[in-house]
Amino acid sequence: MKAAIFVEPGKMAVKEIDKPKIEKSTDAVIRILRACVCGSDLWWFRGISKREAGSTVGHEAIGIVEEIGDDVTAVHPGDFVIAPFTHGCGKCAACRAGFDGSCEERIENTNGGYQGEYLRFEHANWALVKIPGKPEDYTDAQLNNFLTLADVMATGYHAAASAEVKQGDTTVVIGDGAVGLCGVIGARLRGASRIILMSHHEDRAKLGREFGATDIVSERGEDAVKKVMELTNGNGADSVLECVGATSAIEQAGQVARAGAVVGRVGVPQTEPSSNTLFWKNIGLRGGIASVTTYDKDILLDAVLKGEINPGKVFTKRFDLDHIQEAYEAMDKREAIKSLIIVADK
Ligand SMILES: [Zn+2]
Ligand SMILES: [Zn+2]
Repeated sequence: MKAAIFVEPGKMAVKEIDKPKIEKSTDAVIRILRACVCGSDLWWFRGISKREAGSTVGHEAIGIVEEIGDDVTAVHPGDFVIAPFTHGCGKCAACRAGFDGSCEERIENTNGGYQGEYLRFEHANWALVKIPGKPEDYTDAQLNNFLTLADVMATGYHAAASAEVKQGDTTVVIGDGAVGLCGVIGARLRGASRIILMSHHEDRAKLGREFGATDIVSERGEDAVKKVMELTNGNGADSVLECVGATSAIEQAGQVARAGAVVGRVGVPQTEPSSNTLFWKNIGLRGGIASVTTYDKDILLDAVLKGEINPGKVFTKRFDLDHIQEAYEAMDKREAIKSLIIVADK
């Protein structure tokens, strides 16, 4: 089978590798239809974080269940599924509390293999999310909506849930990448009445408005903080979504939040910010790896099926697996908000 492989920073390849097999009774093998490149993949693509040369890559996909282990009863061969990047067991304390992104039953392969023709998926019984019907029942746009439920839409929603966004909130979203844009959708789903998106790019701001942002702040640094304070009559935001991960973004989140607000963060932190500034305003800081399966099953799949949300619009360029290099480069050069990879037509 064909799979995308990391060669060295800046260089991807497609190679012929062995098709994965069931190794544990809780595994499933998935035939991948669509996959995509994540903003977090750029860390190793750019050589900022380390990755083993020759490793398989990708952690977001939709596909068809091909084979299941003996203990898998919730899905069957032929089922159409979302393959989340998280692999919640559904049984441990973290999963039961709704934090399957922090599942205590760690899996062997946490980030790789989704950008290929077949994937061995661990904890298949609980973590996979079944989509009703067959891929042929859906439009191209709907298939892209499902694909975002493997990571980016669930992660954006997690930022809003972590920030405790509630009905009538004024919410600030920091970060206009695919996750930040999905954070706008998450805040809207939770009832925020005013959503201020920090965005420096015209195309992203436009999509942000379409997703539910009521105001765009294009200023940077202190000017951006000043602008948010102006827009909120000097009060600051009730909730803040931090979708970047840089220390400066978390500090900025604290500056635009009103006293007692909660900052929900999903950007993978590179260094920890000083939390002392948060102390003086009684600001809460929480977040982490998204509860992908929990949100998909409880809220997001339903919202997509009903046509209430269209997060698949974050895919602004599409490629086939043979053009994996171009798919990464388009994101690296910011020519695409998110790159879609068509692995198989059906
Ligand atoms: Zn991702
Ligand atoms: Zn678990």
